[in-house]
Amino acid sequence: MSALAQASASDAYSIAERLEAGLKGAPRGLIIDGKSVQSVTGKTFATHNPATGKEICQVAEGGVEDVDLAVRAARRALENPAWRDMSAVDRSLLLNRLADLIERDAQDLAVLECIDNGKPATLTKAVEIEGSIKTFRYFAGWPTKFGGETLPVSPRSGAKILNYTVREPVGVCGLIVPWNYPMSMAAWKVAPALAAGCTVVLKPAEQTPLTALRLAELALEAGIPAGVFNVITGFGEAGAALVDHPGVDKVAFTGSTEVGKAIVRGSTGNLKKVSLELGGKSPQIVLPDADLDAAAASIAAGIFFNQGQTCTAGSRLYAHSDIHDDLLARIADHAAKLTIGNGLDPAVNFGPLVSEEQWDRVSSYVEIGQREGAELVCGGSRPQGLNEGFFFQPTIMANAASNMRIVREEIFGPVLSALRWSDPEDLVAQANDSDFGLSAGIWTNNLKQAHRMAAAVKAGTVWVNCFNLVDNATPFGGFKQSGWGREHGRQAMELYSEVKSVWVNLS
Ligand code: NDP
Repeated sequence: MSALAQASASDAYSIAERLEAGLKGAPRGLIIDGKSVQSVTGKTFATHNPATGKEICQVAEGGVEDVDLAVRAARRALENPAWRDMSAVDRSLLLNRLADLIERDAQDLAVLECIDNGKPATLTKAVEIEGSIKTFRYFAGWPTKFGGETLPVSPRSGAKILNYTVREPVGVCGLIVPWNYPMSMAAWKVAPALAAGCTVVLKPAEQTPLTALRLAELALEAGIPAGVFNVITGFGEAGAALVDHPGVDKVAFTGSTEVGKAIVRGSTGNLKKVSLELGGKSPQIVLPDADLDAAAASIAAGIFFNQGQTCTAGSRLYAHSDIHDDLLARIADHAAKLTIGNGLDPAVNFGPLVSEEQWDRVSSYVEIGQREGAELVCGGSRPQGLNEGFFFQPTIMANAASNMRIVREEIFGPVLSALRWSDPEDLVAQANDSDFGLSAGIWTNNLKQAHRMAAAVKAGTVWVNCFNLVDNATPFGGFKQSGWGREHGRQAMELYSEVKSVWVNLS
């Protein structure tokens, strides 16, 4: 059990009180060139606590001019010998130092993320903060190992040639992240970008700007030179300005497929490199021989963790007719056992949705599903007794069908749509009948079936008898409209670097 989980409820509440007191007063500034500054227009916006709906503090609203200043700072830092010529060992050291500082401040960061995003602080610490520490440590290992190769070329002239490749940083990177895992998503992008020697301008989501700003402050404290890591808080227009800016060489984005498409269109001016981690509608495929206890627990966690606001959420359940009713009853049982409430309470494992807008969206999908003929098994509305904040019950909808919107569209909330199947010939085709291809779960004790299905399912990640396992060592990303490119592993280092082929005539 984490230290935070062991802490009494009053500990997290008192940390929150201290943090909120510190955030009152001047609006939180943008981080440009190593300094906290207000936006050029002086505009600010409020960030709210989703468990209470109340304002936490004001934050600088960055716009086009601020993006320009941040990009220029990142460009100068890219060419500054203090960063450009830093040895691989020293770059590793800085990333490890940043990981140390996140570790030092883990408790505060977990509570900060909890009040800004709503997710339970115990889970925030275990997943987001500890995950971010691991991410920085993992990528701290790469600068000393990521290089080119010598290649056996055969020139027609017969000349004696030495050919080798080198890896160079792609340049200034615009990193645009969503609100569902604010700190982790920032770490997944910042860590490989800095490991590759790039400089960055990070644009967090408007709902969750606070941990991104703190992360950049910790980076400065770690000794990462000014201008290497800039943060522009603000709205979609700030993200769009980053995408449009000719001084940005690469954009890495996580968020909705719709905005992902806008980013592709917006990046054509200077044909910047683009990587995208977009939406999902992941199938959970359950064969009749599956271990139903294990499947039910994991399927429930796969859709209800983080209140379903997870790109890999297993939101489409394909359960064989023989076990369908039993499995649904078991999943509903897990849903009923979740403790819903303010995430500062260590007993809580299911918090509010991030915003009123998201609450309305999820609620409207439940209505749409019922109108289309699906049946509400449990949930579907605000939990009793939780009248403030954006709480929504864990929800299961049965009798769903392939053509329903609740099966085709990303709801991004705690809503499981269950479909019944009996024809194995048709099963994989049904699971693949989606615009998305981020991940899939397969539940069976039949080894051959498991491998056949893992091969046939169109998804960037396939979990067999498990779900939602993610690790920095293995690539993560989507097929189809779930994205371009892969985060984590060597693939992430490749995203943030250019390869150069050098020919040297030795004749
Ligand atoms: P968005 O995709 O709109 O936002 C993600 C990030 O992109 C935010 O930082 C956002 O800024 C920024 N952004 C918005 N518009 C632009 C633009 N035109 N150019 C560049 N950057 C932009 O997600 P939302 O927060 O609006 O959520 C809407 C839906 O998207 C959710 O309900 C969910 O279905 C899906 N989603 C999926 C995620 C995933 O990981 N698969 C993650 C988040 C959302 P700002 O916050 O200021 O708008």
